[in-house]
Amino acid sequence: MKKGKKLYEGKAKIIYATNDKSLVIQYFKDDATAFNNQKKSVIEGKGVLNNRISEHILSNLSQIGIKNHLVKRLNMREQVIKLVEIIPIEFIVRNVASGSITKRLGIEDGTVLKEPLIEYCLKDDKLGDPLIAEEHIFAFEWATKKEIEKVKKMILRVNDFMIGMFRGVGIKLIDFKLEFGRLKVNGKDEVILADEISPDTCRLWDSMTDKKLDKDRFRKNLGDLIPAYTEVAKRLGILHEQSNVSAVNVTKLSSVKRKRK
Ligand code: 5GP
Repeated sequence: MKKGKKLYEGKAKIIYATNDKSLVIQYFKDDATAFNNQKKSVIEGKGVLNNRISEHILSNLSQIGIKNHLVKRLNMREQVIKLVEIIPIEFIVRNVASGSITKRLGIEDGTVLKEPLIEYCLKDDKLGDPLIAEEHIFAFEWATKKEIEKVKKMILRVNDFMIGMFRGVGIKLIDFKLEFGRLKVNGKDEVILADEISPDTCRLWDSMTDKKLDKDRFRKNLGDLIPAYTEVAKRLGILHEQSNVSAVNVTKLSSVKRKRK
């Protein structure tokens, strides 16, 4: 497969064309941003860990029948994905109240929700990804009723699966963000899971201590983001228990891989 020109650069990823029109390459950057791009940094090795963790989760989801864009991981920072038309909505799934909902509604951080809550945000950085109602989606034709029904079913299955997967390794799945895209299959649009699922897009707390193992370490200046993401990867069995992944090691690993190609 030949890597073509850059098609799109987002805050944490770059999309490149390939010689196959239906496939693109997704490159995971080390850039970290928060609060609608107001806080920015480069955290060496973050992209490598997110590539591996997202690959692990999306391939497990494939195995339980959740169709998604992942084709295969290419190397330390890149994966081949199906080209989809992204639905311009961020689907936020919450099991425990934390982050924006606590401020917006005055709910105490850590409040366990009786059932999963799905929130919709318009995917628009200029507007700060505003919270919207389901009715807005239909009023402005961002997605059809049929698509949203299908997405909601998929979300609940993804949530059940991920809660169990993380619980098994001593991690509480507090909340996460999903994106979906449209794919033409035999002339018909099919909705599949897209983007990434990683500690950048989830809140993950250690089950015993509530230690944050996700991007809140960056948002809240807690430090040690790479050790936290590495801990998630090790617990999921992606990295060996004994491997001591520091930012430097991860970066070295990725440049060795690049030179070999
Ligand atoms: P909140 O609404 O509390 O800021 O975020 C809820 C969950 O969705 C968190 O796990 C957060 O990481 C994720 N999330 C929401 N918006 C974004 C976004 O624009 N980018 C990323 N990476 N994650 C997001």
